[in-house]
Amino acid sequence: MVQHLRVTYNDIHNLIRKSTPEIASYNPDLLVAIGGGGFFPARVMRTFLREVTEHKALQIQAIGLSLYEPVEGTSAEQIGQEVIRTQWLGPDSGKLLLGRRNLIVDEVDDTRKTLHYALSELQKDVEDELLKHPESERAALREATKFGVFVVHNKNKAKLAELPSDLPYFAGATVEDVWLDYPWEAMDIEEHDRHAAADKASN
Ligand code: 5GP
Repeated sequence: MVQHLRVTYNDIHNLIRKSTPEIASYNPDLLVAIGGGGFFPARVMRTFLREVTEHKALQIQAIGLSLYEPVEGTSAEQIGQEVIRTQWLGPDSGKLLLGRRNLIVDEVDDTRKTLHYALSELQKDVEDELLKHPESERAALREATKFGVFVVHNKNKAKLAELPSDLPYFAGATVEDVWLDYPWEAMDIEEHDRHAAADKASN
């Protein structure tokens, strides 16, 4: 049976706060939240980063990707096999990312397929944008464009996709291969928090 780990809003808030000094040294100037799980973490991250970096107007942009969630028009076989875009940055995606220190934010790195997809597609947008610039400027612009990743939880398991080994990668916590129950999925948040407190007390 898959073990479950219940996490509360406060757990997540505190993991993000703890990760902030490291992320501040990467100094992102754009957060790209992967929806839906990355939305709340990105918003909390912005609060802390605004406090400690010079980016008082730190922007959050959103993309929607789905691996596990059934999306209308998706066959049963596709679910869990491939990453499906449900929302993207828009026609100016590459322009938005170019020359920035972008931080991709999600709640959990499980198989890594979602993060791999997000990074490679965002990088493609940057490459497309670079083609609009004179060739002589491209190397410098490419060099100025950075990507990093933050996840609240990274599962310690064999991954099905890779990220570049030199990619700045930050995780609030590394956990075993358990199923994480996030608070935003709970129907009764008081009950969720009670169970989470009881789990903590018994461990
Ligand atoms: P991936 O396998 O691509 O790393 O993760 C894909 C997505 O699966 C995550 O963004 C998340 O929505 C979902 N997922 C993976 N593991 C868990 C988990 O333990 N709990 C929950 N609630 N969602 C998960």
